[in-house]
Amino acid sequence: MAVEIPFRREFSFEYGRLEPVAPMIRRIVARNPSPFTFRGTGTYVVGQGEVAVIDPGPDLTEHVAALLAGLAGEEVTHILVTHTHRDHSPAAAALQAATGAPTYGFGPHAGGKRGDPAVEEGGDWDFVPDRTLRDGERVIGSGWVFEAVHTPGHTSNHLCFGLQDSAVLFSGDHVMGWSTSVIAPPDGDMAAYMASLDKLLGRPDSIYWPTHGPAITEPQDHVRAFIAHRRERESGILECLRAGVGLVDGIVERLYVGLQPGLHRAAGRSVHAHLIDLAARGVVESDGPPTIGAHYRIARS
Ligand SMILES: [Zn+2]
Repeated sequence: MAVEIPFRREFSFEYGRLEPVAPMIRRIVARNPSPFTFRGTGTYVVGQGEVAVIDPGPDLTEHVAALLAGLAGEEVTHILVTHTHRDHSPAAAALQAATGAPTYGFGPHAGGKRGDPAVEEGGDWDFVPDRTLRDGERVIGSGWVFEAVHTPGHTSNHLCFGLQDSAVLFSGDHVMGWSTSVIAPPDGDMAAYMASLDKLLGRPDSIYWPTHGPAITEPQDHVRAFIAHRRERESGILECLRAGVGLVDGIVERLYVGLQPGLHRAAGRSVHAHLIDLAARGVVESDGPPTIGAHYRIARS
């Protein structure tokens, strides 16, 4: 039976308005809706008076202006970035120019190793955090403390931010309610993503605030469903290979029935991410290196 993911897509907000969503937490949604961003990027503000901003968002002047207008009379003391995709980090530059606040993140996109631009189209190569955070490191502000939780997979530099003493986790694009995450090699890594899902199961958080879409109020069930979904996808890929379907395009055609045409490339990258992982585990092999165009088959062990 197919795994049911308890998706959450009911989402009420008004573009351009900084709105309270929970004690200590406000959110403003940027007007950059797409098949990858749902209604747009949700920029979070934590605290009151002296605040942290999480994921300033895309390079949209009106978004930064609306955020600053919503924060009139308050001071931004910290700019936190979950990861370096162009819908998350570019507005950090404008926000920093306006506030002088330092930026915090794991590091530059893909460790600063610029790859094939066609593959890395979503990466923000310009963002370099002022302060680098490692797993478990704390960021202390006025009335709040964050713990950085390194969750590579969607990108190698992805961080979630746990709000201390509140069981709240800002989950970025690692775990979202409206959709699964895109895992696009080379920076996206399926094995790392699965390990990062397991990592969240070991945490006591009771609510996740992802960067896109509504909060997840049963996070453990949600994470378990994602793990089961990926395992199911992996079995589907192995079935394709057993049936002699060894190209990524053919596998996508068989496994993703009814997929929006605009999402075909992303689906292909996720399948490729699975194949790289399976090849690394010795389960599958390819003619030559495990590229997206390679021909794959079950390994003859
Ligand atoms: Zn992303």
